[in-house]
Amino acid sequence: MKYHSTRGNAPILTFDEVLLAGLARDGGLYLPESWPSFSAKEIRSFAGMRYPDLAFHIVRPFVGDCIPEEDLKALIDDAYADFGHAAVAPLKQLDSDLWLMELFHGPTLAFKDFALQLLGRLFDYVLTRRGERVTIVGATSGDTGSAAIEACRDRSQIDIFILHPQGRVSEVQRRQMTTVQAANVYNIALDGTFDDCQDAVKAMFNDGAFRDRVSLSAVNSINWARIMAQIVYYFAAGVALGAPDRPIGFSVPTGNFGNVFAAYAAGRMGLPVSQLVVGSNRNDILTRFFETGSMDMLPVEASLSPSMDIQVSSNFERLLFDLLDQDGAAVAETLSSFRATGRFALAPERLQRAQRLFDGYRLDDETTLAEIARLQRETGEVIDPHSAIGIAAARVKRRADVPVMIAMATAHPAKFPDAVERACGIRPALPANLSDLYEREERLSTLPNDLNQLMSFVESNRWPSNQGAAVSSERSA
Ligand SMILES: *Cc1c(COP(=O)(O)O)cnc(C)c1O
Repeated sequence: MKYHSTRGNAPILTFDEVLLAGLARDGGLYLPESWPSFSAKEIRSFAGMRYPDLAFHIVRPFVGDCIPEEDLKALIDDAYADFGHAAVAPLKQLDSDLWLMELFHGPTLAFKDFALQLLGRLFDYVLTRRGERVTIVGATSGDTGSAAIEACRDRSQIDIFILHPQGRVSEVQRRQMTTVQAANVYNIALDGTFDDCQDAVKAMFNDGAFRDRVSLSAVNSINWARIMAQIVYYFAAGVALGAPDRPIGFSVPTGNFGNVFAAYAAGRMGLPVSQLVVGSNRNDILTRFFETGSMDMLPVEASLSPSMDIQVSSNFERLLFDLLDQDGAAVAETLSSFRATGRFALAPERLQRAQRLFDGYRLDDETTLAEIARLQRETGEVIDPHSAIGIAAARVKRRADVPVMIAMATAHPAKFPDAVERACGIRPALPANLSDLYEREERLSTLPNDLNQLMSFVESNRWPSNQGAAVSSERSA
């Protein structure tokens, strides 16, 4: 399997190269040159498979001969072994035609664990074979940081530094990051805002000498391997509810467009996906786009579903590539004018093509709270604000010819206890394996918003500077 860039002007890469590169050199995102595709008979045979076995079938063609099958199998088994539900991604029926897929049984209680648990292991495996190491640096406003830390903890070829704005993430979110006791994990509470954290990370990547000295890397949401891992649960949901013999619709609460793009990819691979509903909060740029064909950037506003407080959905570029008939130059031109003017529009016939599959729906905070309350009242299910948006969008937008709609539950309600309690009067409890989160010891370093101090902190703590006696034994594997 070979990968090309959405902007058509970067080297063609193999899977392991794409994994480590993240962003393409022309600024584009990598996609497989052709989609592996499964016959109806093969898809039928996926029904009832253990989740990691299904994952192996879906992932194998993307990895190609970069990783021997036995090793790939072991990495996948290990990635999903610690999920808190035997089904890994269980389904719940909410209504005669509406189901919920729970994607929050991973170690940090959000769907990002599905991709990052595998990504951390793939990184470590590929780096070990190449005899290389990386330093991962990232900024988080709360959710992504903990999933990245859990994915990279104790990996022998990785040091990870995550910056969060001091005092500006919730206590659950902070503790999920700072209570991880692993020698290669560094939490930095920056005296500044989330934008300051992001700017600092960007500045480190832009400093070529520093970047090379510490082998800087990232596990951000544009990494192809994250999308790849997310395709699996769409197949799992589809075959459980009648695919390939009956069409399936999905409703996905969306921010960077990565999760819903994985559903689209499952469709390209043979799953009969007949509708995709994109749920948004008041930051509704995608909903407006699917209604009008015009992408118009507005300022980001805070909402009760903070992981969707996004205006520029980086993974949308992957869909745009198809909508523009895989013309890399046209993608590059469209996005550079979007950067310059905050706006672009799609020709009507291309919009119609997108609308054949996609619908958008927005909920404000008020209606999000109402949906949490309604679902709790009618079914007893307590859901988080992101998942509520997906469910409400599924109800409103399901087309008459889509017999089964599956809404993706992207976070555990206990990650957003204040909003949930406000909506339905119930304060959701953390699952048993995290119930002592508030008693665990925290480890973090508070640093001023000063690039030089940040860079020297990274440089003096990363391998090999951190090879103390206690550490080296853990790292010898
Ligand atoms: C990241 C996240 C989203 C948005 O997912 P995208 O892949 O960026 O569209 C939705 N809900 C939750 C809980 C998240 O953490």
